[in-house]
Amino acid sequence: MDSRWKPAEARDYVARYAAQGIGEDVAVRVYTTRLLGSDPRLVLHGGGNTSVKTTAVDKLGDSAEVLCVKGSGWDMGNIEPAGLPAVRMDVLRRLRSLDTLSDEDMVAIQRTALIDPASPNPSVETLLHAFLPHKFIDHTHSTAVLALTDQPDGEAICAEVYGERAALVPYVMPGFGLAKLAAEVQADHPDVEGLILLKHGIFSFGATAQEAYARMIVLVTLAEKRLAKATTRTFSAATLPKKGLTVAQVAPVVRGLVAQCVDDNDGIWQRQVLAFRTSEAILNFVGGAEVARYAQQGVVTPDHTIRTKNWPVVLPAADDVTVFRDGAQAAVARFVDDYHAYFARHNGKRGPEKTELDPMPRVALVPGLGIFGMGKSAKDAAIAADISENMIDVVTDAEAIGTFLPVSEADLFDVEYWSLEQAKLGKGAEQPLARQIAVVTGAASGIGAATARAMAARGAEVALLDRDDAGARRAAGEIGGAAIGIECDVTNPAHVTEALAQVCRAFGGIDIVVSNAGAAWQGRIGEVDDADLRASFELNFFAHQSVAKEAVRIMLAQGTGGCLLFNTSKQAVNPGPDFGPYGLPKAATLFLMRQYALDYGSAGIRTGAVNADRVNTGIFADGLLEQRAKARGLTPEQYLRSGNLLNREVKAADVAQAFVDLALARKSTGAVMTVDGGNIAAALR
Ligand code: ZN
Repeated sequence: MDSRWKPAEARDYVARYAAQGIGEDVAVRVYTTRLLGSDPRLVLHGGGNTSVKTTAVDKLGDSAEVLCVKGSGWDMGNIEPAGLPAVRMDVLRRLRSLDTLSDEDMVAIQRTALIDPASPNPSVETLLHAFLPHKFIDHTHSTAVLALTDQPDGEAICAEVYGERAALVPYVMPGFGLAKLAAEVQADHPDVEGLILLKHGIFSFGATAQEAYARMIVLVTLAEKRLAKATTRTFSAATLPKKGLTVAQVAPVVRGLVAQCVDDNDGIWQRQVLAFRTSEAILNFVGGAEVARYAQQGVVTPDHTIRTKNWPVVLPAADDVTVFRDGAQAAVARFVDDYHAYFARHNGKRGPEKTELDPMPRVALVPGLGIFGMGKSAKDAAIAADISENMIDVVTDAEAIGTFLPVSEADLFDVEYWSLEQAKLGKGAEQPLARQIAVVTGAASGIGAATARAMAARGAEVALLDRDDAGARRAAGEIGGAAIGIECDVTNPAHVTEALAQVCRAFGGIDIVVSNAGAAWQGRIGEVDDADLRASFELNFFAHQSVAKEAVRIMLAQGTGGCLLFNTSKQAVNPGPDFGPYGLPKAATLFLMRQYALDYGSAGIRTGAVNADRVNTGIFADGLLEQRAKARGLTPEQYLRSGNLLNREVKAADVAQAFVDLALARKSTGAVMTVDGGNIAAALR
């Protein structure tokens, strides 16, 4: 592993932060923290922390000796000085003389010792940093170091690799006890450059940021060199079907199996979002004949357990969806049973009784295909997938030089159910559409874009489909987060199939569809060109059918219900003169919505339509608004407000809100919601 320290870059950091009144110690601390945090071989999603001992001025203007240590909630890869809260060293030092200290007291005391009470909580490993004497301290969960230490004889291997350069600290759960033990080991070996925390990670330290960082790189490189002695990194392969299933076939089945029904009467599911990954290394790992053994020993370093649970679910390899479903269902049921048994084995044994967490897996391995990370959001699913990929690297390396054996199950239980680890996940009420995946067509602009935005604001993961590829991507970019834009001409059934498959590959499935794409054709019905009428039917009826049909197939594979919503417009109920070519297919789509309600209600799939009128977007493109306003002798603004009972302009956001309301209306199906400011001629009766 090469050092990425560049003197000019370090000087840049110092100069840049000096301009903000931040001292050199913290500036270089930020620099090397970022160097460490942006390398996934060292630090992944909160695993790892750094500190510097320096001085700070408190609110009274007094200078105090402090430890600036990584605060929880900050990512080392893009940390700022605010992510390194300053804690008074005199308080931290006094804690060392205590025999015991509860986690709650430790957190409380650390908070009271903050120079700025608005700071985030200092890392759970703060005391370890405080008790070591060095000015700069770096801590990572290096994959290479873990591959050496997660072995039955990991201690002997590390002793041989590190000799006098690093001292070994036996496994103890993070917190007060580990901090005291690590400080004692260091005091017994005052000349070491770092500490290897067996089955956990590595610390390096020095008088300068550069020295601590350089030592981390050197010590990790020693581990890498030891691993390089292995002759093969290939697992002996299991026999897999020649022609496997696709991700789009497998994902909805998996997603359905890892969802839990919370309220059968209300059709409420605790779903998960999926993140798929594959690569040569992943396929080697999941396709190994012994995958059930080496994949299920436990996580490579304890704090991963809150993201991935202690082991993944291993799903069967199959070339038939039904066979896969049956095998996967049995595997998930076994996983849940095993999780209950694991909880029962350890709960209350070494501490107070805990409440069992949800028993569903966070990672699924599919031989021949890849891995799925899972979580309550696309972000959490990606974190689980990242950590799982990291685990695959560590286990592959560990098995290449010996046998992978991480910390014991009882120790992992303590970390999984440790209040300070669970606090990292954050609690609080979820958004009403959280854990759901919404697809919106015609989403590059107007009602579609507004609807995707509204769904995302309620917590849904959104996919924006539009034949305008750049527009769909731009609209998704404006929403941010995990939103994706996908090119799709909804009048082409093959495009629809591929676009929805892409959604399954990105998020694992589909729960809500807003079939919105449409366009207005005009013409007096007795004189209209047949080709125009048929073109309008293609977009305003058949495209809705293609989207709904494909989405229902995916929803049935998930088995957790779903919601199909259509933009039908007031033309479906109240024809306007010369708008037959538009109104006829929209009327058919209104009945399409009712037919789906009837045929798929028993599968928990609800439907709905929004009947909007005079929205200044979409159908009013190409000067149509000006034309129609002029015909009535009105300005466009007057036209939009006139003629409805409330005299209010209907906006895209109002229509978007109606789609959200229908998506949340658990006991409504086959419903039409009118969003037109009041048009009694278009009222349904
Ligand atoms: Zn750690």
